[in-house]
Amino acid sequence: MDANASSRVFVSAIGQDSHRFVPDGSPKPLVLGGVAIPGCPGLAGNSDADVILHALTNAVSGVSGQNILGKVSDKLCSEGVTDSRVYLEKAIETLSIGRWELTHASISVEAKRPHLADHINAIKKSVASIVGLPENSIGLTATSGEGLTDFGLGEGIQAFAVVSATRC
Ligand SMILES: [Zn+2]
Repeated sequence: MDANASSRVFVSAIGQDSHRFVPDGSPKPLVLGGVAIPGCPGLAGNSDADVILHALTNAVSGVSGQNILGKVSDKLCSEGVTDSRVYLEKAIETLSIGRWELTHASISVEAKRPHLADHINAIKKSVASIVGLPENSIGLTATSGEGLTDFGLGEGIQAFAVVSATRC
């Protein structure tokens, strides 16, 4: 191990989020990872309720120690900013305080609906561009939940994200 490698610090942090679907027939679109997903109701919340980007935002906050969802996102929301990409970008900005650099993001979704397999590549591409990582540094898996939870019963969607970061 060279001197550079031994002084490098590696961390991982977790984030979680969940939202309930708006009633069927409501016009709110479903947005996951910044991608509009047709054929399924949107998620309830003041913002676009992008559960994947919210879990990622919380994970990035877990690295920087600077929380964005809550006070900061509520203020943005009250100013009309409902695109969750902005919240995640705010969280990414806080990484510079600790000289952190993201190296990887892993996302796990529990949802009976929508069927995510057809959208995984598009979501990975979108997330990669928002967080500034190559697509092959984004992991995204989905499970139906087997009817065991409200998410598995199709009442809403839950997402977990683990991000890894490093600094010299
Ligand atoms: Zn949320």
